[in-house]
Amino acid sequence: SVRVRFAPSPTGPLHIGGARSALFNWLFARHHGGQFVVRIEDTDLERSSRESEENILNALRWLGMDWDEGIQVGGPNAPYRQTERLEIYRGLARKLLEQGHAYPCYCSEEDLAAEREMLMAKGELPRYLGRCRELCPEDRAKLEAEGRRPVLRFRVPENKIVTVNDRVRGQVEFDCNGIGDFIIMKSDNIPTYNFAVVVDDHHMEITHVVRAEEHLSNTPRQLLIYEALGWKTPEFAHISLILGKDRSKMSKRHGATSIEQYQQLGYLPEALVNFLGLLGWSPGGEEEIFTTQQMIELFSLDKVSKSPAVFDLDKLNWLNGNYIRQCPVDRLAQMAIPYLKEAGYLQGEVGPEKLEWLTQVVAIASKYISYMQEITLHVDIFFKDQVPPVDEEAKQVLTEEHIPLVMNTTIKLVEEAEELTEASVKALLKAVGKQTGLKGKMIFMPVRVALTGKIHGPELHQIIPIFGKERTIARLRASSR
Ligand code: GLU
Repeated sequence: SVRVRFAPSPTGPLHIGGARSALFNWLFARHHGGQFVVRIEDTDLERSSRESEENILNALRWLGMDWDEGIQVGGPNAPYRQTERLEIYRGLARKLLEQGHAYPCYCSEEDLAAEREMLMAKGELPRYLGRCRELCPEDRAKLEAEGRRPVLRFRVPENKIVTVNDRVRGQVEFDCNGIGDFIIMKSDNIPTYNFAVVVDDHHMEITHVVRAEEHLSNTPRQLLIYEALGWKTPEFAHISLILGKDRSKMSKRHGATSIEQYQQLGYLPEALVNFLGLLGWSPGGEEEIFTTQQMIELFSLDKVSKSPAVFDLDKLNWLNGNYIRQCPVDRLAQMAIPYLKEAGYLQGEVGPEKLEWLTQVVAIASKYISYMQEITLHVDIFFKDQVPPVDEEAKQVLTEEHIPLVMNTTIKLVEEAEELTEASVKALLKAVGKQTGLKGKMIFMPVRVALTGKIHGPELHQIIPIFGKERTIARLRASSR
């Protein structure tokens, strides 16, 4: 059965690209009723941190990608953090050494730098040329005696073509003569990514390696290790780069790059999942809105595109706005509270009565937003005591001759009203028309400006019940003078 994995290096937060890789694996696993494994690749000791690991795992959970096996949840192949699996790699490194597939290399940084420079000057790809390949035991002993600590290099076969059969990119051939003998164990006896990834994918019985295109060039090295160890290889699928709208590599200029930032701005995880799913995959057709369940049903590697995906923030905002409009308003209200507190609109505990009122406010204001943080831009009319007309056009509305009549009539009817509901406000406004002999805009405009300071905005029958009698009357009075 299908077993896939997400194997992040905890060297920073979970980014859009990493989340997309995780999602494709997760969708593939769920589509096939297989297993999704999460493993931490922390062999870069300087750059890895537990903080990044936490951030990545929290972001995965927030997005709703649960895993069946791996870090934090455990499983038959534990531990799932590479720095806790060092003995496994070391044992296999010894085996490769004994079998002649690997050899110790004593070259210094300076030696290697000089070699790189020489190759580049000749216009060749920098690679290790094999200086320590054929050292005899005496040479080695001498270098060891100098106190040099070797790395272990994999002996890449000469004159051989390695073919990657990629589910997305088709057959990709690599000439071994262009691949220098690469390091599998560093001098501190820590494995490199290319070695540890093979060992773990084998032990964890991974059937499909679905990952970013930037790893395609690592794949021939990994295939050589599989071969040397006599292991069956998984299938590979390398998914395309993510570019900005201007076709340059996705960066901060194109929008927030970490998932955490989107969470903090108040995006809905299911909208983000929908968006990430379409970064390089499409089931075909024009439809752009898919529930997670639909994506699971439709997902297939055959529909993953070879060409780069384009990150379009406007599209994400459009999608997220759609999800917000579909979202139960109670959940939106809960989401809105922290932003309203931060903007100073709310303080302390929000009791049941306040919450009920707040829910009505959020129901209206959320019609105008792409993500929840923006709610603070649309709620001033509900929270502020005074709302002076915001611009000339609005001011103008309140200078017209019939204004006192409209205001006084409306005030009187509001005062007399038993309750203010959507229906009763609609009826009340009709009555204002009848009593004043004025129509439509002549009434709605001044009342709207008096209540909100703006010419455009939510319907009066939506906002007046939220304002309540006192606030409605106070604002109408302030404008009738
Ligand atoms: N640790 C690697 C990374 O974060 C994983 C690559 C892979 O999936 O093999 O890029």
